[in-house]
Amino acid sequence: MENEIQPGLDGDFQLELDKLEACGNLRVLPETCSEGKWIEAGGRRMLNLSSNDYLGLASDKALREEFLRTVKERDLCFSSSSSRLLTGNFPAYRELESLLASLFGAESALVFSSGYHMNTGILPAVTDANTLILADKLVHASLIDGIRLSAAKCIRYRHQDYAQLENLLAKHHGEYHRIIVVTESVFSMDGDVASLDRLVELKRRYANVMLYVDEAHGIAVRGQRGLGVAEEQGCLKDIDFLCGTFGKAMASVGAYVVCRKVIRDYLVNRMRTLIFTTALPPINVAWTRFVLSHLEDMQARREHLAKISASLRTAIRESGVECPSESHIIPLVVGANEKAIWKALQMQEHGFYVLPVRPPTVPEGTARLRFSLTSLIEEEEMARLCHEMKA
Ligand SMILES: *Cc1c(COP(=O)(O)O)cnc(C)c1O
Repeated sequence: MENEIQPGLDGDFQLELDKLEACGNLRVLPETCSEGKWIEAGGRRMLNLSSNDYLGLASDKALREEFLRTVKERDLCFSSSSSRLLTGNFPAYRELESLLASLFGAESALVFSSGYHMNTGILPAVTDANTLILADKLVHASLIDGIRLSAAKCIRYRHQDYAQLENLLAKHHGEYHRIIVVTESVFSMDGDVASLDRLVELKRRYANVMLYVDEAHGIAVRGQRGLGVAEEQGCLKDIDFLCGTFGKAMASVGAYVVCRKVIRDYLVNRMRTLIFTTALPPINVAWTRFVLSHLEDMQARREHLAKISASLRTAIRESGVECPSESHIIPLVVGANEKAIWKALQMQEHGFYVLPVRPPTVPEGTARLRFSLTSLIEEEEMARLCHEMKA
């Protein structure tokens, strides 16, 4: 009996996959091999324009060697073997969190297993049916999932439309015990940058509004000391949940929130994706702390990344295509799925590994190439890229 049911149930999946393939939306895991700014795929060696190693730290051998020379024997531990609430809370965690708090000038910080754990865990923990979440239309899937898991009511405001947000706050602030405004700083698909200072100003108008900012693409890359867009815009102290991940420019794994102590204490008691998962291995946490302690020295890399990013944005605009980006994440919007796939293949044939991004990751009709730049790219390589992109 079971044997008869099984093929039919699998057949449903196959049918869905066939449909995805028919409309150019089938995803497969790419077989690639990375080395520094290079990537090998399909037997071709290309410049990697799809990496999140924004400052080239993940492939920096000197940095890695310095870490291995100085790492404490105590931290050479490749599993925590437990949740942090049981026996997994190694000293490396305390050291990382106190460095975070002191760099950001905050009361406390809390570290998580990943940005996905962070965003699916914090919002359900700190909200209830008496909470309204106001989230930017383009926030990351992990934030959407966090909102879905929460008991809060949610309204998505149009992307970066602070006038609409202002109206929503004015209209609803009296109806809810708490309102949480949720945004990214550098948006992951358009590469534009939130006006955190404006959001802080809006938040201050009402006593029951809190601000949640995800700096996944801002940490290490923006700000004089690499503390993100919040540092750049002078509002480190004004964000209630200042979040980011270590998996991108920080060249590690995990994520953090910088916050008041009472919020940290509350999360330790209520956040399911912190409580019910094995803590990161101490070796990774020690590496994160090591990279974090070097962030201030990376200003030359940040400046170079900003410079080559400006060149690419200019080239795209000169070719007559609108480009919303204000960062190192730069979309070339082409519209149709097939066109995005074709253009990406063409770039790859010329040695530039850039990937097409299609709906549902981005809105219908805005399929694009997504350039995600690293400071390892040289100006001469950027000039060739701009030339090829216009071809
Ligand atoms: C990548 C990303 C995450 C997820 O972080 P991970 O550490 O990779 O799980 C969360 N938010 C945003 C905006 C991201 O781009």
